[in-house]
Amino acid sequence: MPELPEVETIARSLRPGLVGRRIQRVLARWPRSLRPSMATVIAGCEGREVVGVGRRGKHLIFALSQGGHLIIHLRMSGRFEWVEPGGDEPRHARTLWRLDDGRTLAMDDARKFGTVTWSDDPAATLSQLGPEPLDPAFTPARFGTMLAARRRALKPLLLDQHFLAGLGNIYVDESLHRAGLHPLTPACSISDAQVHTLHGHIQAVLAQAIDNCGTSIDWIYPQGRMQSYLRVYGRAGQPCDHCGASIERLVVAQRGTWLCPTCQPCSSTPPG
Ligand SMILES: [Zn+2]
Repeated sequence: MPELPEVETIARSLRPGLVGRRIQRVLARWPRSLRPSMATVIAGCEGREVVGVGRRGKHLIFALSQGGHLIIHLRMSGRFEWVEPGGDEPRHARTLWRLDDGRTLAMDDARKFGTVTWSDDPAATLSQLGPEPLDPAFTPARFGTMLAARRRALKPLLLDQHFLAGLGNIYVDESLHRAGLHPLTPACSISDAQVHTLHGHIQAVLAQAIDNCGTSIDWIYPQGRMQSYLRVYGRAGQPCDHCGASIERLVVAQRGTWLCPTCQPCSSTPPG
């Protein structure tokens, strides 16, 4: 599933072709993906201009004229493809937006988990999301207050979109390794220095991943380069770049979890 850096990359790549274009028609091939209803999405799009393409957590947001918004979650296999005039639709096209320049934007989604939600107030629709990790308002002090109130282990807590928006399995494992913290460490048990270290590494890993257009580990998302810089994710049995120990894989909260047993001991201190 795309995480914050991949969704940010998709937003940036769609912006030049989409902003300023008027939507002439919406073709709904899989109405169940449209919220609150197919009729609402179609009526809300047709005739309106796309005035912005943004992101909140792992959600893409298309801002439309007259105050409408589409909130799109790609889930497991959603991706976008441009169709030139007269061109073929992608095989699993679920929703298509015909634009006034003759091009069509297709949302292709083999597994059908993706959603397209119409909203006139995306902040309200997404009000359950935690803070944005790259927002200036997300300070180490705020993060420390958030962590101090929670006894949950760091890994599942950082995956929880209600706690912090945008992180998924890859970037949680990478942030915890860089911070020298074991994934099962109770959130409220880490020191102020460790909070600062973890905060800094979450922001640095996300920024590095955005600079590298995200991580490509399968055919759904081919454009990224961050996989070359991952230190633990998917690297079981390979040596840790920091200490040379063998990377281990655990299952934490039903998720594959990669860590270095030396850099991330159970009672953690950051690597030197
Ligand atoms: Zn190590």
